[in-house]
Amino acid sequence: MIRAYKFLMRPTVGQAQALGEMLRDHCSLYNGALQERRDAYRHPSKTSVKYGMQSAQLKEIRAFDPVCQGRWSFSSQQATLRRLDKAFQAFFRRVKAGGTPGYPRFRGVNRFDTVDFPRDGDGCRWDSTPYDPVTRVRLQGVGHVRVNQHRPVAGRVKTVGVKREGRKWFVVLTAEQERPEPLAPTGSAVGIDLGIANFIADSNGGFVPNPRHGRTAAAKLEAAQQALSRFPRVRRDKRTGNHRRAVEKVAKLHGKVRRKRLDHAHKTALSPVREHDFIAHENLRIRNMSRSVSPRPDPEQSGAFLPNGAAAKAGLNRSIMDAGWGVFLTILTSKAESAGREVIAVDPRNTSRTCPECGHVAKENRPTREKFHCVNCGHQDHADTVGATNVLRAGLARRNAHQG
Ligand SMILES: [Zn+2]
Repeated sequence: MIRAYKFLMRPTVGQAQALGEMLRDHCSLYNGALQERRDAYRHPSKTSVKYGMQSAQLKEIRAFDPVCQGRWSFSSQQATLRRLDKAFQAFFRRVKAGGTPGYPRFRGVNRFDTVDFPRDGDGCRWDSTPYDPVTRVRLQGVGHVRVNQHRPVAGRVKTVGVKREGRKWFVVLTAEQERPEPLAPTGSAVGIDLGIANFIADSNGGFVPNPRHGRTAAAKLEAAQQALSRFPRVRRDKRTGNHRRAVEKVAKLHGKVRRKRLDHAHKTALSPVREHDFIAHENLRIRNMSRSVSPRPDPEQSGAFLPNGAAAKAGLNRSIMDAGWGVFLTILTSKAESAGREVIAVDPRNTSRTCPECGHVAKENRPTREKFHCVNCGHQDHADTVGATNVLRAGLARRNAHQG
């Protein structure tokens, strides 16, 4: 199964200039090769120039023009020649079919927007700085370019492409994911509640506690960030040795959190996917939107709020937790997809306040964080289990609505 990903790149000024030059040179290669084919075609002998002949000239072209053509990837240049070849093949196909096709055209430098690298590792390298929390892609002649990787890439990266859209630059990847055998149906469904004390709780009463590494990492990160914040904000090359080490420490901790989070998500996602055909979970985006921030009013002064260090710390804990859930749900969904399982995200509102026995909705149903006790019918259970049960119900209702 081939999947495509598109991420925004954040090149430096110098890199953006190099990217522009890369497009310009590939464009002139394309037009030069087109010119050659055109001249040959118009010659009385009606010679046709093939891709193989043009590709064989590349070595000379690069040697002849080391400042421009010579600095780019050989393979990406071959890909550009192949693109021209495709245009010609389509042209000749239409001629044969008796149509009146347009002859392949020259491209203006502003209309030539992509460069392809047919194989990761050949003139380009996806995730070229794997130990840094910032993702980068290395492109020959350009350098390590920062990438805004907003979601994980599953599988092995096969091809890398660079695309210009307006003033923005994107990296486009294709990745091959192995398609494992779909698992045998179990006839079972489950709901999942994402929590703070418990990382997840399921509708069968199962719990996965929040990993300890999250909390220790938050404490260490906070200390490292605080140490870093004591240094003045100066340019990278003006930093002292201690400053540089502080930056490295924060980056290293971020990387560590990321790896542990991924590992934990993979392990946690295994059993729900193995055991159930249908998995319902809370929609994290809706939940984050509806979550209100509770301010701390200053008792001395009405309308004022206390500055609170605990809030900042809670914020860091919070963001680490949020990222953990996000990664978990992404991995759960992709594992479920390849196993032939169904996953549905449901609106989490009221899932923690609704009684699964009688349907009574009240804030008072939940006297403490952990306890659920229905004020209407007296039903009691762990609050997270109740939440997961309601998530499952909502998920099944949604599925039935779609099927009916
Ligand atoms: Zn009830």
